[in-house]
Amino acid sequence: MSEAGAITGRLLTRIDEGNSAVAFPAIWCEQPTCPDPAVVRAFPPDPDIVQPHPQADALVSACGAIIVHGGSGAYYSPVSDRIHMPDADRFYGTNAAQRALHWYATLFHELIHWTSHPQRLDRRREAHGRRHSIANCDDELEELVAEIGSVILLTELGIADEPPAHALRCIRDHADMLERCVDYAMTRCGDIESMRRNLKSYYSLETAAQRAEEAVSYLRGLQS
Ligand SMILES: [Zn+2]
Repeated sequence: MSEAGAITGRLLTRIDEGNSAVAFPAIWCEQPTCPDPAVVRAFPPDPDIVQPHPQADALVSACGAIIVHGGSGAYYSPVSDRIHMPDADRFYGTNAAQRALHWYATLFHELIHWTSHPQRLDRRREAHGRRHSIANCDDELEELVAEIGSVILLTELGIADEPPAHALRCIRDHADMLERCVDYAMTRCGDIESMRRNLKSYYSLETAAQRAEEAVSYLRGLQS
């Protein structure tokens, strides 16, 4: 089993165990209301604010993703193909090391979204090519891919020893929402059991974990 596979295996076990989570950091999942910043600033941010992690910074630089710094939210825009990161001092933590965990967790989450672009792994085409694709389910699945991928990178790079509690909570929340989306979608399948089974198996944590591992492998490949 690959290192990413081992990490996701442990992660799925932890989620099944239902570990209690700590409070969310100020910024974790993206907030798609960020104003358009006027400038693209240098990466990485001020080391006094976020403690740099050379391996992580090398991975991000090798990807060549355009990262726009500023504003209040983190998100990836498929239209502009840019990652938006809020000012570093908005991240939860009383010191540069604590803020680094939340900074890189958020940046990796967006970087995994960046891999979904049509010129990269084209995850949306895959989803939309399915006969029974459902927009809300696709969105929740993509959020799970991004969050699980972020945890894999944090753990592989040694920024976190194990999946952070707030990441587990974020994954559980999205997994719950995905389940509700699928339950609703299944009510429209009538008695067609094969359609119900396909929906349930495709829109699942296991699918998200597999896609996350593929995304991490893709990012790693850009470094070589
Ligand atoms: Zn996201």
